[in-house]
Amino acid sequence: MQEIKKYWQSYVDGQWIDSLDKDRIAIENPATAETIAEIARAKPEDINQAVEAARRCFSGRELYDMRPSNRGALMFEIARHLTEMADEIALAECLDNGKTLAGGKNEALAAARYFTYYGGLADKLEGRMIPLGADYIDYTIPAPFGVSAQVVPWNFPLQIAARSVACALATANVVVLKSPELSPLSTYYIAEACHRAGVPAGAVNILSGYGHDCGASLVAHEDIDHIVFTGSLATGQSILRSAAERVIPSIMELGGKSAGILFPDADIDQAVNSTAVGIFTHAGQVCSAQSRLIVPEKQADEVIDKLAVKARALSVGPGIDGHDLTPVISRNQAEKIEGMCLAASQAGAEAVTGGRRHEGLPGHFIDATIFSKVTADMTIAREEVFGPVLSVLTYSDPEEAISLANGTDYGLCAGVYTKDLTTAHWAADRLDAGQVFVNEWFAGGIETPFGGMKRSGYGREKGQEALQNYVQTKNVGIRVTGGGGGRPGG
Ligand code: NAD
Repeated sequence: MQEIKKYWQSYVDGQWIDSLDKDRIAIENPATAETIAEIARAKPEDINQAVEAARRCFSGRELYDMRPSNRGALMFEIARHLTEMADEIALAECLDNGKTLAGGKNEALAAARYFTYYGGLADKLEGRMIPLGADYIDYTIPAPFGVSAQVVPWNFPLQIAARSVACALATANVVVLKSPELSPLSTYYIAEACHRAGVPAGAVNILSGYGHDCGASLVAHEDIDHIVFTGSLATGQSILRSAAERVIPSIMELGGKSAGILFPDADIDQAVNSTAVGIFTHAGQVCSAQSRLIVPEKQADEVIDKLAVKARALSVGPGIDGHDLTPVISRNQAEKIEGMCLAASQAGAEAVTGGRRHEGLPGHFIDATIFSKVTADMTIAREEVFGPVLSVLTYSDPEEAISLANGTDYGLCAGVYTKDLTTAHWAADRLDAGQVFVNEWFAGGIETPFGGMKRSGYGREKGQEALQNYVQTKNVGIRVTGGGGGRPGG
């Protein structure tokens, strides 16, 4: 077994440090349930220290005064260092998060790509000139907020951290980022890459700790100016309550219960392959997972049979051995998923495959699960499972399919399977989702705006749109001396 570092410190004010009280958190490998490392456990006093460092850096104006193209060049350097460390990052992400080595490497390269993408946009964010006649000059400045407090979930910690840190740096904000306590290791590489690239001390601070003290104290801190939260609806609601007290602008990337609609003309094999990728990737621990499939009544049996063949063919085991279905993050998460499956069966849904923990392995594995006979009122059709669990619902006419797809509190993603462009557009236009995939779940990339409607949140990450959430417009109106357009010297 390849080794990783046994103890990981916080990165504050350009230095690697212990927590003030020296406390640590043990990090578990979800594939084996063994402790693999420890991290410094940050608490409110450590958060204070990080916010103070970030404030000092912002007040010093080093990032803000820098020519934006030079800020972009600094970000290209961060990307270069992340790429150079990609194999090391892949191992850390594989061991603390459960991904395959290829999945871990993909995290590293995607993180690097966020820094090149937003580094390239750093010098393209422009204000505008507003004509007010000869006596005035008026223009806008896209001004940074200041200290951006960022809280990240455990499923794709590095990519999610990279997307918000990159947007913040491109717009001259500074960052205090709270990594997820369950899988923080890969996020420390952003700090290492920033350090090696020469990012000013205090511009990027990365700490980890529990949500209830470390996370809560960061988002409630008196001296932050901006919040980026990616995580569950319940945590998002609690953060928003505290942000409301101080009127702190927030980006909320919350959960999902996304549905794909299969139309009668669809290529069924293509839809089945796409659905399997949509729900079984990273054991379904993906906010944009396709956790529901809505099929015509007449085609349900054929589609479910084909899905079941796919699900049974997946090998279950540790990511490091290259398995298809890797572990879920923790015992708690496995128990929660199993409980939801049990409740679904009791409510009348039928587990065609899976529905329980995988036996014979020490870690936290759930078998690939497909539920048929699911109805819209069931919890399994409405609530996020965050595991490899697909609910199949049936419809008899297209309007009913749309209404089923839109029938949850969430609105993160939706999908359409059809060969007909008119059908695709008709459905995409009616689906309440921030992102609609046609004939391929997860179609899109770093360049495409991503975020939720309804209770999946607001604000957008990814794409050029994301930058708008990291700046506030300042208008400058200048009365030109002497009126009449003024005269030089007079
Ligand atoms: P979570 O809400 O439990 O935790 C997310 C982060 O918030 C963690 O770092 C946690 O420590 C912290 N936290 C917990 N309580 C807090 C509090 N009171 N104040 C401040 N921080 C607190 O979510 P999770 O279980 O880590 O992640 C899974 C959820 O994230 C799912 O709902 C998933 O859909 C969502 N998610 C959304 C996106 C997106 O882009 N929309 C991406 C990934 C995950």
